[in-house]
Amino acid sequence: MELDPDAIGLANPVDPASLDLEGEMREVGVPTPPPRLSPSGAGTFEQCPRRWRHRYVDRLPDPPGEAALAGSFAHRVLELLMQRHPDERTPDEAKKIARQEWPETEAQSDYAALEYDEEKSRHFRWKAWQAIEGLWKLEDPVTVDVAATERDLEVELAGVPFRGIVDRLEREGDGLVVTDYKSGKAPSPRYRRGRLDQVLLYAAAVEADSGEMPVRARLLYLGQRPVGIDVTRKELDVVTEKLATTWNGINTACETGEFEPRTGPLCGWCPYIDRCPEGAKEAEKRNRARAAEDAAMLEAAG
Ligand code: SF4
Repeated sequence: MELDPDAIGLANPVDPASLDLEGEMREVGVPTPPPRLSPSGAGTFEQCPRRWRHRYVDRLPDPPGEAALAGSFAHRVLELLMQRHPDERTPDEAKKIARQEWPETEAQSDYAALEYDEEKSRHFRWKAWQAIEGLWKLEDPVTVDVAATERDLEVELAGVPFRGIVDRLEREGDGLVVTDYKSGKAPSPRYRRGRLDQVLLYAAAVEADSGEMPVRARLLYLGQRPVGIDVTRKELDVVTEKLATTWNGINTACETGEFEPRTGPLCGWCPYIDRCPEGAKEAEKRNRARAAEDAAMLEAAG
């Protein structure tokens, strides 16, 4: 699998569907497939089965970090904003909602773990606000015909018990559109298609739930640009078949207890690297290669 280097330092918000609340009933440390597979859980297994095991079987902490927390806060504000009457969807209203919602984010243990002083806290809020305000660079929210926000879908896709929470569903002239907000960096053209799997799975879930196939699915990279795709039967078949392959892989790994380490550029950002000799070796190799490249560039320049 080709890894998307833009995914390094991901600023995607915490995915509530991956929290697997039913799965809390499962015994920690005993490999058992989750009751439902979210795009985020599937993505973790595809990236590295061992990382999936540490996250979903051993339940080792995977702290979201500043970027993901700021993304979650921005998502919450936009969710509430888009539930307002269209005429009320203004930057001033978004500011009002942000002020109302801030105490809840500030009280979260993940935020407290960052141990921010007042200056850093102000910077965090500024970054989140940049993401929120970035919506107006992409669309006029007043004109959006919102059909649903935070639609929690539990359906079966290609035999896989799936759960996904869709940020926004809207109605356009030719049909339903699935929209997901992103506060991370928009992908380069080479990696765009890979990033769209998540919203295509949401489109498949919307169809399975309501009987209506959305016409488009898109990611709104706040403050940057939208990345979208027309939803076709073929595209939905491709992503649901891939989901089924991942689900089979998870089931096989749980049966055999074998969760292979899949090393790559993301090892350096893996929260479990201290438990993974293969990943540590990979990160060291990449650090050495980077240092050698820097040295060669300096030599060439001097
Ligand atoms: S360090 Fe790399 S190989 Fe090891 S668990 Fe993490 S992602 Fe997987």
